Amino acid sequence: TEELLRNTEKLVFAGQLAVGIAHEVRNPLTTVKGILQYTNRDAKQPHYDLIMSELERMNLIVSEFMILGKPQAVKFKEEECFVILNEILRIFEIQASMNGIAVELEAVRSASLMCDRNQIKQVFLNILRNAMEALPFGGRISIGLDVAEGYQRVRFADNGHGMSEDVLRDLGQPFHTTKPEGNGLGLMIVRKIIATHEGRLDIRSQVGEGTVVEVYLPIIPDRIE
Ligand code: ADP
Ligand code: MG
Repeated sequence: TEELLRNTEKLVFAGQLAVGIAHEVRNPLTTVKGILQYTNRDAKQPHYDLIMSELERMNLIVSEFMILGKPQAVKFKEEECFVILNEILRIFEIQASMNGIAVELEAVRSASLMCDRNQIKQVFLNILRNAMEALPFGGRISIGLDVAEGYQRVRFADNGHGMSEDVLRDLGQPFHTTKPEGNGLGLMIVRKIIATHEGRLDIRSQVGEGTVVEVYLPIIPDRIE
């Protein structure tokens, strides 16, 4: 436990440091983007688009770090889990179908949660995006909702390329990505939000078989039927 504690302290410190840096980097980044946009109104630089998109990437990393480190103004309200999921699915299904990916709803047993709906949406979307990015054209994502022991369980299963044991072990580390365009922050954000909601995350995966990600969120006790 002592080592666990020391690790937690280290993580908290690293988090504060990262947010500090993110804040400091944000302003010069905005300046550079502004100047670039301004000076290129007339003479278009050959590398303009590349520079802009790289700056955009930096921007995204910075804002994701700020989400990670900032004690966010969470607005906990009573929400129906399936309603939140459905809002995400309406958008996600369009992207998925463009990539030839089928999204199937298996079981739906939805409960009421005390949660910040925007944060929970972010959790679902990050997990769904990862599933889509692991799938070839023609792949499948299935989603199931059920209730067990005071928790709402939301299960996302894909039959994509899966993860090796090495990748699985390093999942908690920031910037741990296997994608050329990834930043390895998605699952960290997912974990942080779930922790804020006093839930838990369970990930199982097998290379070539696929991945199952399960989110457990506490349900409002007097609503358990
Ligand atoms: P990113 O998506 O930017 O790489 P994430 O934190 O969302 O960052 O994911 C970290 C890594 O975990 C991914 O790069 C990928 O290797 C692995 N991963 C996450 N979800 C899946 C999945 N459903 N199938 C296979 N690999 C996954
Ligand atoms: Mg991701």
